[in-house]
Amino acid sequence: MTNVRIPGGLLIAIEGIDGAGKSTLARALAAALAQAGAEVVLGKEPTNGPWGTQLRASAATGRLSPQEEVDLLLRDRRQHVEEQVAPALARGAVVILDRYFPSMVAYQGAAGLPVDELLRLNDFAPRPHLLLLLDLSPETGLARIRARGDEPNHFETAQNLERCRAIFQDLALPGRQVIDASRSEAEVLRDAQAAVAATLARRGDVQGGPLPGFQVQGGSPATPPR
Ligand code: ADP
Ligand code: MG
Repeated sequence: MTNVRIPGGLLIAIEGIDGAGKSTLARALAAALAQAGAEVVLGKEPTNGPWGTQLRASAATGRLSPQEEVDLLLRDRRQHVEEQVAPALARGAVVILDRYFPSMVAYQGAAGLPVDELLRLNDFAPRPHLLLLLDLSPETGLARIRARGDEPNHFETAQNLERCRAIFQDLALPGRQVIDASRSEAEVLRDAQAAVAATLARRGDVQGGPLPGFQVQGGSPATPPR
């Protein structure tokens, strides 16, 4: 049942290298927030729309230049934001994105494009209220991808993922929370839930709440009654 509305919505982006556990956390966090009564929209980038589909097909074969990838990613993101993300936020929903513009900054940055310019190209994209950065070594990420049954693709080399990880670590974006993703799924989820709770507590404007399971532990940060 959805009965909680957050004015302006809550935009959560989950980032990190391949195998960090983004999709796993996105699903678990979406389930927990829906259980707590929020409307949850779970999105991913690149999307399954026309531009994202074209990008994935070409990326699998390594045919595109980084600049061509940027062009497709930006078209995909504009459409995603306009048609899905912005309307959901306006309804007061929680939007969870499994990769967002920081991934483009990290991956196309690792491919040699200037990070500042990549950030500037994303000025149109709404800033996440919370940016969960799942930090993990490339070796562990690659091992998880293989254990998942996938073969790493052409850009999923330890050296390239190390560059991506370093760019993610250097990105000073507001709302960023670094989570040690080498720990268990349960521990990662618990940290993510605590970060959501702290973000909501700072906003202090949930309507129809509180969100069960998303209260700040150890008491409210609000001024105690006298
Ligand atoms: P990503 O979306 O970041 O590429 P996934 O969520 O697909 O990563 O996770 C990659 C693999 O690792 C999956 O098989 C998943 O079940 C597993 N996994 C996810 N989180 C953890 C974790 N905290 N510890 C161990 N394995 C994990
Ligand atoms: Mg994934």
